[in-house]
Amino acid sequence: MTVIAENVPLSSAPARARALIDLAALRANVRVLREAAPGAQLMAVVKSDAYGHGAVPCARAALDAGATWLGTATPEEALALRAAGIPGRIMCWLWTPGGPWREAVEADIDVSVSGMWALDEVIAAARGAATPARVQLKADTGLGRNGCQPGDDWERLVDAALRAQADGLLRITGLWSHFACADEPGHPSIAAQLSRFREILALAEGKGVTPEVRHIANSPATLTLPESHFDLVRSGIAVYGISPSPEIGTAADLGLRPVMTLTASVALVKRVPGGHGVSYGHHYTTPGATTLGLIPVGYADGIPRHASDRGPVLVGGKWRTAAGRIAMDQFVVDLGGDEPPAGTEAVLFGPGDRGEPTAEDWAQAAGTIAYEIVTRIGTRVPRVHVHLDADADADADADVDVDGSGT
Ligand SMILES: *Cc1c(COP(=O)(O)O)cnc(C)c1O
Repeated sequence: MTVIAENVPLSSAPARARALIDLAALRANVRVLREAAPGAQLMAVVKSDAYGHGAVPCARAALDAGATWLGTATPEEALALRAAGIPGRIMCWLWTPGGPWREAVEADIDVSVSGMWALDEVIAAARGAATPARVQLKADTGLGRNGCQPGDDWERLVDAALRAQADGLLRITGLWSHFACADEPGHPSIAAQLSRFREILALAEGKGVTPEVRHIANSPATLTLPESHFDLVRSGIAVYGISPSPEIGTAADLGLRPVMTLTASVALVKRVPGGHGVSYGHHYTTPGATTLGLIPVGYADGIPRHASDRGPVLVGGKWRTAAGRIAMDQFVVDLGGDEPPAGTEAVLFGPGDRGEPTAEDWAQAAGTIAYEIVTRIGTRVPRVHVHLDADADADADADVDVDGSGT
């Protein structure tokens, strides 16, 4: 299965830049993750607009490929999926006082509760709602971020949730936690968190909690740590075909295929003499007479300014690097005398099999992780979803559908 941007009618998207989103690749990644965790259900994490890939089409594609849960950070993200008609189980976990608890309960969304203030608010919302709330209790087993502290706090939270369950106001559907260092196989915190997770499960189950799902695994744990799979795994970055960390392997090592290809149309090619300063601050000076190509995307589009002088781009079959500063809307590459016509496709990143850089290459150039590269691609870049039809997966090469809606 190969998706080549040339196959897509150019009229379907503005020429300046676009992010091609290969939903056949996404579905294949979901199948790889299901095979990696055969005893567990798979939650596709589609927070932050599916890591920049477009939440609704990615959610649909993940469900088509066998994910049975969707996960978001905020309740607003979860409600937006429901509003778009997405069925099935949806969970969200990043709550602040004020809700919207009532809306989430009535939209049949599983809500996470990490402390008493949240339990009190969800109970209050459930009193007026038509259905009991679905509540998943989260414990902090060692991440040191969200989640209820094990010990007395956990015991009080479980007791209070059980009382509300007995009153018919809620159902405790899940017990869960999150890893700190699953992307560093062998890190001692992993075993420590697993054992604390078993303790918080035993305490809650000993008091009578009967969760549908117990879960702690993110993408790296899904791929490398079978003992962490329990009833459900929550995979985000791997769904989008990106390795959670170079330490675990490349996307190809893991059988994953990057879903996003970011391209831009070269806006200008011109000859310049040697000694010509390039872009703000003149951090690059042409070493001799050469040609410069203008790439019409910049940090407002999510191209990291930290990758100035380093960010890679494939232009006319050759790997070039940002010459000088990346500006808000554009940056420049030294084309070394080549003169591709304006309008030539510049590939910033993609799966890598056309010789183009990957999001991981940009992450290295910017001193960050590939999660941040794809997630921060801006709203000014239209997402063009291809391979919408799951039935065509066996013969994906033959079918390129374009949804130019930009969602
Ligand atoms: C983002 C997130 C995930 C997914 O993490 P990946 O490393 O992208 O798989 C899982 N669980 C929680 C709580 C998250 O916030």
